[in-house]
Amino acid sequence: MTMQMTEEQRMATDGLRKVLDAEIEPKLRAHGEKFIPKEMMKGFIKTLTEYGLIRAPFPEQWGGLEMDWVTHLRLWEEVGVSAIDLALPILINVSGADMLIRNASDSVKEKYVPGLLSGEVFISMGISEPDVGSDVAAAKTRAVRDGDYWVINGEKTWISNGEHMDIFVCTCKTGEGELTHILIEADTPGLEVRGIPKMALNGQSTSQIFLADVRVPVENTVGEIGQGLKNTLVTFERARCHMAAWGYSIARRAMEESIKYSQTRSQHGKLIAGHQLIAEKIANMATQIDAARLLTLRAAEMIDQGLRCDKECAMAKWFSTEIAVKACRDAVQIHGGNGVTKEFIVERLAREAIIGPIPDGTTEIQKLLIARSLTGVPAFS
Ligand SMILES: Cc1cc2nc3c(=O)[nH]c(=O)nc-3n(C[C@H](O)[C@H](O)[C@H](O)COP(=O)(O)OP(=O)(O)OC[C@H]3O[C@@H](n4cnc5c(N)ncnc54)[C@H](O)[C@@H]3O)c2cc1C
Repeated sequence: MTMQMTEEQRMATDGLRKVLDAEIEPKLRAHGEKFIPKEMMKGFIKTLTEYGLIRAPFPEQWGGLEMDWVTHLRLWEEVGVSAIDLALPILINVSGADMLIRNASDSVKEKYVPGLLSGEVFISMGISEPDVGSDVAAAKTRAVRDGDYWVINGEKTWISNGEHMDIFVCTCKTGEGELTHILIEADTPGLEVRGIPKMALNGQSTSQIFLADVRVPVENTVGEIGQGLKNTLVTFERARCHMAAWGYSIARRAMEESIKYSQTRSQHGKLIAGHQLIAEKIANMATQIDAARLLTLRAAEMIDQGLRCDKECAMAKWFSTEIAVKACRDAVQIHGGNGVTKEFIVERLAREAIIGPIPDGTTEIQKLLIARSLTGVPAFS
Protein backbone atom coordinates (compact mmCIF):
# COMPACT_ATOMS: atom_id res chain seq x y z
CA MET A 1 0.00 0.00 0.00
CA THR A 2 1.43 3.39 -0.93
CA MET A 3 -0.12 6.53 0.42
CA GLN A 4 1.90 8.85 -1.83
CA MET A 5 -0.25 10.42 -4.53
CA THR A 6 0.21 9.05 -8.01
CA GLU A 7 1.00 11.49 -10.83
CA GLU A 8 -2.58 11.10 -12.07
CA GLN A 9 -4.03 11.87 -8.62
CA ARG A 10 -1.72 14.89 -8.21
CA MET A 11 -2.83 16.35 -11.54
CA ALA A 12 -6.50 15.72 -10.75
CA THR A 13 -6.35 17.29 -7.27
CA ASP A 14 -4.26 20.28 -8.47
CA GLY A 15 -6.79 21.07 -11.22
CA LEU A 16 -9.65 20.79 -8.77
CA ARG A 17 -7.87 22.92 -6.15
CA LYS A 18 -7.46 25.72 -8.70
CA VAL A 19 -11.15 25.86 -9.61
CA LEU A 20 -12.19 25.63 -5.94
CA ASP A 21 -9.89 28.52 -4.96
CA ALA A 22 -10.48 30.76 -7.96
CA GLU A 23 -14.14 30.19 -8.72
CA ILE A 24 -16.17 28.19 -6.24
CA GLU A 25 -15.04 29.29 -2.80
CA PRO A 26 -15.28 33.05 -3.55
CA LYS A 27 -18.87 32.55 -4.76
CA LEU A 28 -19.74 30.50 -1.69
CA ARG A 29 -18.23 33.05 0.70
CA ALA A 30 -20.23 35.80 -1.00
CA HIS A 31 -23.39 33.69 -0.58
CA GLY A 32 -22.68 33.23 3.14
CA GLU A 33 -24.17 30.41 5.21
CA LYS A 34 -27.66 30.70 3.73
CA PHE A 35 -29.43 27.78 2.05
CA ILE A 36 -28.09 27.21 -1.47
CA PRO A 37 -31.06 27.10 -3.87
CA LYS A 38 -31.32 23.99 -6.04
CA GLU A 39 -30.24 25.55 -9.35
CA MET A 40 -27.24 27.20 -7.73
CA MET A 41 -26.28 23.94 -6.00
CA LYS A 42 -26.65 22.12 -9.32
CA GLY A 43 -24.32 24.63 -10.98
CA PHE A 44 -21.61 24.05 -8.36
CA ILE A 45 -21.97 20.28 -8.45
CA LYS A 46 -21.94 20.13 -12.25
CA THR A 47 -18.70 22.14 -12.32
CA LEU A 48 -17.18 19.70 -9.83
CA THR A 49 -18.21 16.67 -11.89
CA GLU A 50 -16.02 18.06 -14.70
CA TYR A 51 -13.09 17.51 -12.32
CA GLY A 52 -14.06 13.89 -11.61
CA LEU A 53 -16.30 14.28 -8.57
CA ILE A 54 -19.15 11.79 -8.21
CA ARG A 55 -18.08 10.03 -11.44
CA ALA A 56 -14.62 8.81 -10.40
CA PRO A 57 -15.25 5.40 -8.82
CA PHE A 58 -18.01 4.18 -11.15
CA PRO A 59 -18.10 2.14 -14.39
CA GLU A 60 -18.04 3.97 -17.74
CA GLN A 61 -21.29 2.22 -18.61
CA TRP A 62 -23.11 4.59 -16.25
CA GLY A 63 -21.05 7.72 -16.99
CA GLY A 64 -18.27 6.94 -14.52
CA LEU A 65 -14.51 7.29 -14.93
CA GLU A 66 -13.45 3.80 -13.74
CA MET A 67 -11.06 5.29 -11.17
CA ASP A 68 -10.69 3.95 -7.65
CA TRP A 69 -12.16 4.97 -4.28
CA VAL A 70 -8.75 6.18 -3.10
CA THR A 71 -8.63 8.70 -5.98
CA HIS A 72 -12.24 9.67 -5.36
CA LEU A 73 -11.49 10.40 -1.69
CA ARG A 74 -8.42 12.44 -2.66
CA LEU A 75 -10.72 14.60 -4.78
CA TRP A 76 -13.45 14.74 -2.14
CA GLU A 77 -10.89 15.93 0.45
CA GLU A 78 -10.21 19.01 -1.69
CA VAL A 79 -13.92 19.90 -1.80
CA GLY A 80 -14.14 19.37 1.98
CA VAL A 81 -11.26 21.80 2.54
CA SER A 82 -13.22 24.53 0.73
CA ALA A 83 -16.85 23.71 1.47
CA ILE A 84 -18.45 20.86 3.37
CA ASP A 85 -21.79 22.30 2.15
CA LEU A 86 -20.84 21.04 -1.34
CA ALA A 87 -19.02 17.90 -0.24
CA LEU A 88 -22.13 16.48 1.44
CA PRO A 89 -24.44 16.44 -1.60
CA ILE A 90 -21.59 14.77 -3.49
CA LEU A 91 -21.27 12.14 -0.74
CA ILE A 92 -24.99 11.41 -0.92
CA ASN A 93 -25.03 11.14 -4.72
CA VAL A 94 -22.00 8.82 -4.61
CA SER A 95 -23.59 6.63 -1.92
CA GLY A 96 -26.91 6.62 -3.78
CA ALA A 97 -25.35 5.79 -7.15
CA ASP A 98 -23.30 3.05 -5.53
CA MET A 99 -26.39 1.57 -3.90
CA LEU A 100 -28.38 1.64 -7.15
CA ILE A 101 -25.53 0.17 -9.22
CA ARG A 102 -25.10 -2.68 -6.72
CA ASN A 103 -28.77 -3.42 -6.11
CA ALA A 104 -31.30 -1.83 -8.48
CA SER A 105 -32.86 -3.33 -11.60
CA ASP A 106 -31.36 -2.38 -14.97
CA SER A 107 -34.34 -0.17 -15.80
CA VAL A 108 -33.95 1.80 -12.53
CA LYS A 109 -30.20 2.12 -13.13
CA GLU A 110 -30.69 3.32 -16.70
CA LYS A 111 -33.26 5.85 -15.61
CA TYR A 112 -31.37 7.47 -12.71
CA VAL A 113 -27.67 6.60 -12.42
CA PRO A 114 -26.28 8.68 -15.35
CA GLY A 115 -28.09 11.76 -13.95
CA LEU A 116 -26.72 11.12 -10.46
CA LEU A 117 -23.16 10.90 -11.80
CA SER A 118 -23.45 14.06 -13.93
CA GLY A 119 -24.94 16.09 -11.05
CA GLU A 120 -28.23 16.57 -12.93
CA VAL A 121 -30.22 14.46 -10.43
CA PHE A 122 -30.02 14.65 -6.63
CA ILE A 123 -30.76 11.70 -4.39
CA SER A 124 -31.47 11.31 -0.65
CA MET A 125 -31.15 8.19 1.46
CA GLY A 126 -33.52 7.80 4.39
CA ILE A 127 -32.97 5.47 7.31
CA SER A 128 -33.33 7.71 10.37
CA GLU A 129 -36.71 8.43 11.94
CA PRO A 130 -37.78 10.40 15.01
CA ASP A 131 -37.51 7.22 17.15
CA VAL A 132 -34.87 5.45 15.05
CA GLY A 133 -31.28 6.71 15.16
CA SER A 134 -28.36 4.48 16.12
CA ASP A 135 -30.63 1.42 16.09
CA VAL A 136 -31.14 1.37 12.31
CA ALA A 137 -32.81 -2.04 12.33
CA ALA A 138 -35.80 -0.55 14.19
CA ALA A 139 -37.15 1.47 11.22
CA LYS A 140 -40.95 1.83 11.44
CA THR A 141 -41.86 3.54 8.15
CA ARG A 142 -44.18 0.97 6.68
CA ALA A 143 -44.57 -0.18 3.05
CA VAL A 144 -47.57 -2.42 2.31
CA ARG A 145 -48.24 -4.12 -1.05
CA ASP A 146 -51.36 -3.10 -2.98
CA GLY A 147 -51.24 -4.97 -6.30
CA ASP A 148 -48.33 -3.62 -8.34
CA TYR A 149 -47.71 -0.79 -5.88
CA TRP A 150 -46.16 -0.19 -2.49
CA VAL A 151 -48.14 2.14 -0.22
CA ILE A 152 -45.77 3.90 2.17
CA ASN A 153 -46.57 5.69 5.44
CA GLY A 154 -44.18 7.11 8.01
CA GLU A 155 -41.69 9.83 8.79
CA LYS A 156 -37.96 10.13 8.14
CA THR A 157 -35.68 12.72 9.69
CA TRP A 158 -32.17 14.17 9.32
CA ILE A 159 -32.29 13.40 5.61
CA SER A 160 -29.37 15.01 3.74
CA ASN A 161 -30.19 16.62 0.37
CA GLY A 162 -33.93 16.49 1.24
CA GLU A 163 -34.85 19.90 -0.18
CA HIS A 164 -32.71 19.34 -3.27
CA MET A 165 -33.61 15.72 -3.99
CA ASP A 166 -35.27 14.38 -7.13
CA ILE A 167 -35.35 10.80 -5.86
CA PHE A 168 -35.44 9.26 -2.41
CA VAL A 169 -34.28 5.79 -1.40
CA CYS A 170 -36.42 5.07 1.64
CA THR A 171 -35.71 2.26 4.10
CA CYS A 172 -39.12 0.70 4.79
CA LYS A 173 -40.42 -2.02 7.05
CA THR A 174 -42.09 -4.56 4.74
CA GLY A 175 -42.64 -7.31 7.29
CA GLU A 176 -41.66 -8.39 10.81
CA GLY A 177 -37.88 -7.86 11.10
CA GLU A 178 -37.78 -7.17 7.34
CA LEU A 179 -36.42 -3.94 5.82
CA THR A 180 -36.54 -3.10 2.12
CA HIS A 181 -35.28 -0.14 0.08
CA ILE A 182 -37.85 1.57 -2.13
CA LEU A 183 -37.09 4.40 -4.55
CA ILE A 184 -39.62 7.26 -4.52
CA GLU A 185 -39.66 10.19 -6.94
CA ALA A 186 -39.68 13.40 -4.91
CA ASP A 187 -42.78 14.80 -6.61
CA THR A 188 -44.91 11.72 -5.77
CA PRO A 189 -48.18 12.80 -4.09
CA GLY A 190 -48.11 12.31 -0.31
CA LEU A 191 -44.40 13.09 0.13
CA GLU A 192 -43.59 16.31 1.96
CA VAL A 193 -40.16 17.77 2.81
CA ARG A 194 -39.33 20.28 5.57
CA GLY A 195 -35.83 21.68 6.17
CA ILE A 196 -34.20 21.48 9.62
CA PRO A 197 -32.15 24.56 10.65
CA LYS A 198 -28.79 23.57 12.19
CA MET A 199 -25.81 25.16 13.98
CA ALA A 200 -23.85 24.94 10.67
CA LEU A 201 -24.09 23.43 7.18
CA ASN A 202 -27.25 25.32 6.33
CA GLY A 203 -26.14 25.76 2.71
CA GLN A 204 -26.95 22.10 2.09
CA SER A 205 -30.22 20.54 3.18
CA THR A 206 -31.03 18.33 6.16
CA SER A 207 -34.74 17.54 6.26
CA GLN A 208 -37.74 15.82 7.70
CA ILE A 209 -39.68 13.76 5.17
CA PHE A 210 -43.33 12.93 5.76
CA LEU A 211 -44.90 10.05 3.82
CA ALA A 212 -48.70 9.72 3.74
CA ASP A 213 -50.12 6.98 1.50
CA VAL A 214 -47.28 7.40 -1.00
CA ARG A 215 -47.87 4.99 -3.92
CA VAL A 216 -44.78 3.63 -5.66
CA PRO A 217 -44.60 0.93 -8.39
CA VAL A 218 -43.05 -2.31 -7.11
CA GLU A 219 -40.40 -2.14 -9.83
CA ASN A 220 -38.89 0.72 -7.77
CA THR A 221 -37.83 -1.79 -5.11
CA VAL A 222 -34.03 -1.49 -4.78
CA GLY A 223 -32.44 -4.84 -4.01
CA GLU A 224 -34.35 -7.85 -2.83
CA ILE A 225 -37.26 -7.56 -0.43
CA GLY A 226 -35.92 -7.99 3.11
CA GLN A 227 -32.30 -7.17 2.16
CA GLY A 228 -32.50 -3.52 3.25
CA LEU A 229 -30.42 -3.88 6.41
CA LYS A 230 -27.67 -5.90 4.71
CA ASN A 231 -27.45 -3.43 1.82
CA THR A 232 -27.41 -0.49 4.22
CA LEU A 233 -24.36 -1.91 6.00
CA VAL A 234 -22.37 -1.95 2.74
CA THR A 235 -23.51 1.62 2.02
CA PHE A 236 -22.35 2.63 5.51
CA GLU A 237 -18.79 1.50 4.69
CA ARG A 238 -18.55 3.97 1.80
CA ALA A 239 -20.37 6.71 3.70
CA ARG A 240 -18.09 6.32 6.73
CA CYS A 241 -15.00 6.69 4.55
CA HIS A 242 -16.46 9.98 3.30
CA MET A 243 -17.29 11.10 6.83
CA ALA A 244 -13.71 10.31 7.82
CA ALA A 245 -12.50 12.45 4.92
CA TRP A 246 -14.91 15.17 6.14
CA GLY A 247 -12.98 15.14 9.43
CA TYR A 248 -9.47 15.48 8.06
CA SER A 249 -10.47 17.91 5.32
CA ILE A 250 -11.96 20.35 7.85
CA ALA A 251 -8.98 19.75 10.15
CA ARG A 252 -6.60 20.42 7.24
CA ARG A 253 -8.28 23.76 6.54
CA ALA A 254 -8.12 24.63 10.25
CA MET A 255 -4.40 23.80 10.25
CA GLU A 256 -3.69 25.77 7.07
CA GLU A 257 -5.47 28.81 8.53
CA SER A 258 -3.60 28.38 11.83
CA ILE A 259 -0.23 28.18 10.10
CA LYS A 260 -0.93 31.37 8.11
CA TYR A 261 -2.16 33.24 11.17
CA SER A 262 0.67 32.15 13.43
CA GLN A 263 3.21 33.23 10.80
CA THR A 264 1.91 36.81 10.80
CA ARG A 265 0.68 37.50 14.35
CA SER A 266 3.34 38.59 16.84
CA GLN A 267 3.11 38.73 20.64
CA HIS A 268 5.85 39.08 23.25
CA GLY A 269 8.23 40.26 20.57
CA LYS A 270 7.98 37.29 18.23
CA LEU A 271 5.64 35.46 15.86
CA ILE A 272 3.22 33.29 17.81
CA ALA A 273 4.33 30.34 15.61
CA GLY A 274 7.56 30.50 17.58
CA HIS A 275 5.81 30.09 20.95
CA GLN A 276 6.19 26.47 21.93
CA LEU A 277 2.62 25.92 23.09
CA ILE A 278 1.31 27.17 19.73
CA ALA A 279 3.87 25.06 17.85
CA GLU A 280 2.66 22.00 19.77
CA LYS A 281 -0.94 22.57 18.64
CA ILE A 282 0.13 22.79 14.99
CA ALA A 283 2.34 19.68 15.28
CA ASN A 284 -0.59 17.77 16.83
CA MET A 285 -2.93 18.84 14.04
CA ALA A 286 -0.49 17.81 11.31
CA THR A 287 0.20 14.40 12.84
CA GLN A 288 -3.44 13.60 13.55
CA ILE A 289 -4.55 14.69 10.08
CA ASP A 290 -1.98 12.38 8.51
CA ALA A 291 -3.03 9.51 10.80
CA ALA A 292 -6.71 10.08 9.96
CA ARG A 293 -5.99 10.16 6.22
CA LEU A 294 -3.92 6.97 6.43
CA LEU A 295 -6.69 5.14 8.28
CA THR A 296 -9.23 6.34 5.72
CA LEU A 297 -7.25 5.52 2.60
CA ARG A 298 -6.50 2.07 4.00
CA ALA A 299 -10.25 1.48 4.20
CA ALA A 300 -10.77 2.93 0.71
CA GLU A 301 -8.08 0.65 -0.66
CA MET A 302 -9.88 -2.33 0.87
CA ILE A 303 -13.09 -1.23 -0.89
CA ASP A 304 -11.09 -1.06 -4.14
CA GLN A 305 -9.93 -4.62 -3.51
CA GLY A 306 -13.50 -5.81 -2.96
CA LEU A 307 -12.93 -6.56 0.73
CA ARG A 308 -15.40 -5.88 3.53
CA CYS A 309 -13.96 -3.27 5.87
CA ASP A 310 -16.57 -2.37 8.50
CA LYS A 311 -13.97 -2.27 11.27
CA GLU A 312 -11.46 -0.18 9.29
CA CYS A 313 -14.16 2.30 8.19
CA ALA A 314 -15.41 2.59 11.77
CA MET A 315 -11.87 3.32 13.01
CA ALA A 316 -11.34 5.97 10.34
CA LYS A 317 -14.75 7.59 10.92
CA TRP A 318 -14.56 8.05 14.67
CA PHE A 319 -10.89 8.99 14.79
CA SER A 320 -11.02 11.51 11.97
CA THR A 321 -14.24 13.27 12.94
CA GLU A 322 -13.09 13.55 16.57
CA ILE A 323 -9.61 14.91 15.74
CA ALA A 324 -11.36 17.50 13.56
CA VAL A 325 -13.29 18.84 16.56
CA LYS A 326 -10.02 19.19 18.49
CA ALA A 327 -8.12 20.71 15.54
CA CYS A 328 -10.81 23.33 14.94
CA ARG A 329 -11.04 24.18 18.62
CA ASP A 330 -7.24 24.67 18.68
CA ALA A 331 -7.43 26.75 15.50
CA VAL A 332 -9.89 29.12 17.21
CA GLN A 333 -7.53 29.30 20.21
CA ILE A 334 -4.54 30.08 17.97
CA HIS A 335 -6.53 32.96 16.44
CA GLY A 336 -7.28 34.37 19.92
CA GLY A 337 -10.20 36.83 19.95
CA ASN A 338 -10.20 36.93 16.16
CA GLY A 339 -11.03 33.22 16.19
CA VAL A 340 -14.55 33.79 17.48
CA THR A 341 -15.44 36.44 14.90
CA LYS A 342 -17.12 35.93 11.52
CA GLU A 343 -14.04 37.53 9.88
CA PHE A 344 -12.07 34.31 10.24
CA ILE A 345 -13.24 30.98 8.85
CA VAL A 346 -12.07 28.99 11.88
CA GLU A 347 -15.24 30.06 13.74
CA ARG A 348 -17.34 28.40 11.04
CA LEU A 349 -15.08 25.34 10.83
CA ALA A 350 -15.50 24.72 14.57
CA ARG A 351 -19.29 24.64 14.18
CA GLU A 352 -19.07 22.37 11.13
CA ALA A 353 -16.58 19.98 12.74
CA ILE A 354 -18.76 19.32 15.77
CA ILE A 355 -21.46 17.79 13.54
CA GLY A 356 -19.13 15.16 12.01
CA PRO A 357 -19.12 12.64 14.90
CA ILE A 358 -22.92 12.17 14.59
CA PRO A 359 -24.10 11.10 11.07
CA ASP A 360 -23.53 7.63 9.64
CA GLY A 361 -23.08 6.17 13.09
CA THR A 362 -21.94 8.17 16.11
CA THR A 363 -18.47 7.85 17.64
CA GLU A 364 -19.93 5.64 20.35
CA ILE A 365 -21.48 3.28 17.78
CA GLN A 366 -18.23 3.07 15.76
CA LYS A 367 -16.36 2.04 18.90
CA LEU A 368 -18.95 -0.64 19.68
CA LEU A 369 -18.60 -2.00 16.14
CA ILE A 370 -14.80 -2.12 16.38
CA ALA A 371 -14.88 -3.88 19.73
CA ARG A 372 -17.51 -6.36 18.49
CA SER A 373 -15.35 -7.30 15.53
CA LEU A 374 -12.43 -7.95 17.90
CA THR A 375 -14.21 -9.74 20.76
CA GLY A 376 -17.12 -11.30 18.91
CA VAL A 377 -19.39 -10.08 21.72
CA PRO A 378 -22.01 -7.57 20.52
CA ALA A 379 -23.05 -4.60 22.65
CA PHE A 380 -26.41 -4.69 20.90
CA SER A 381 -28.31 -7.40 19.10
C1 LIG B 1 -26.11 16.58 9.53
C2 LIG B 1 -26.75 15.23 9.58
C3 LIG B 1 -27.02 14.56 8.40
C4 LIG B 1 -27.65 13.31 8.43
N1 LIG B 1 -27.99 12.70 7.25
C5 LIG B 1 -28.73 11.56 7.29
C6 LIG B 1 -29.23 10.97 6.08
O1 LIG B 1 -28.98 11.47 4.97
N2 LIG B 1 -30.01 9.85 6.16
C7 LIG B 1 -30.31 9.26 7.37
O2 LIG B 1 -31.00 8.27 7.36
N3 LIG B 1 -29.84 9.80 8.53
C8 LIG B 1 -29.07 10.92 8.52
N4 LIG B 1 -28.63 11.48 9.70
C9 LIG B 1 -28.99 10.85 10.96
C10 LIG B 1 -27.81 10.23 11.70
O3 LIG B 1 -27.38 9.08 11.04
C11 LIG B 1 -28.25 10.00 13.16
O4 LIG B 1 -28.37 11.30 13.75
C12 LIG B 1 -27.26 9.15 13.93
O5 LIG B 1 -27.26 7.82 13.48
C13 LIG B 1 -27.56 9.16 15.43
O6 LIG B 1 -28.92 8.90 15.66
P1 LIG B 1 -29.74 9.87 16.66
O7 LIG B 1 -29.47 11.27 16.24
O8 LIG B 1 -31.14 9.41 16.69
O9 LIG B 1 -29.07 9.65 18.08
P2 LIG B 1 -29.40 8.44 19.08
O10 LIG B 1 -29.28 7.13 18.40
O11 LIG B 1 -30.63 8.74 19.82
O12 LIG B 1 -28.14 8.57 20.08
C14 LIG B 1 -28.08 9.57 21.12
C15 LIG B 1 -26.77 9.33 21.87
O13 LIG B 1 -26.78 8.02 22.47
C16 LIG B 1 -25.64 7.28 22.03
N5 LIG B 1 -26.02 5.87 21.87
C17 LIG B 1 -27.05 5.33 21.16
N6 LIG B 1 -27.06 4.00 21.25
C18 LIG B 1 -26.01 3.66 22.03
C19 LIG B 1 -25.46 2.44 22.50
N7 LIG B 1 -25.99 1.24 22.18
N8 LIG B 1 -24.35 2.48 23.29
C20 LIG B 1 -23.79 3.68 23.61
N9 LIG B 1 -24.24 4.87 23.20
C21 LIG B 1 -25.34 4.86 22.43
C22 LIG B 1 -25.25 7.91 20.70
O14 LIG B 1 -23.90 7.66 20.40
C23 LIG B 1 -25.54 9.38 20.98
O15 LIG B 1 -24.46 9.95 21.68
C24 LIG B 1 -27.97 12.71 9.69
C25 LIG B 1 -27.65 13.39 10.88
C26 LIG B 1 -27.06 14.63 10.83
C27 LIG B 1 -26.74 15.34 12.14
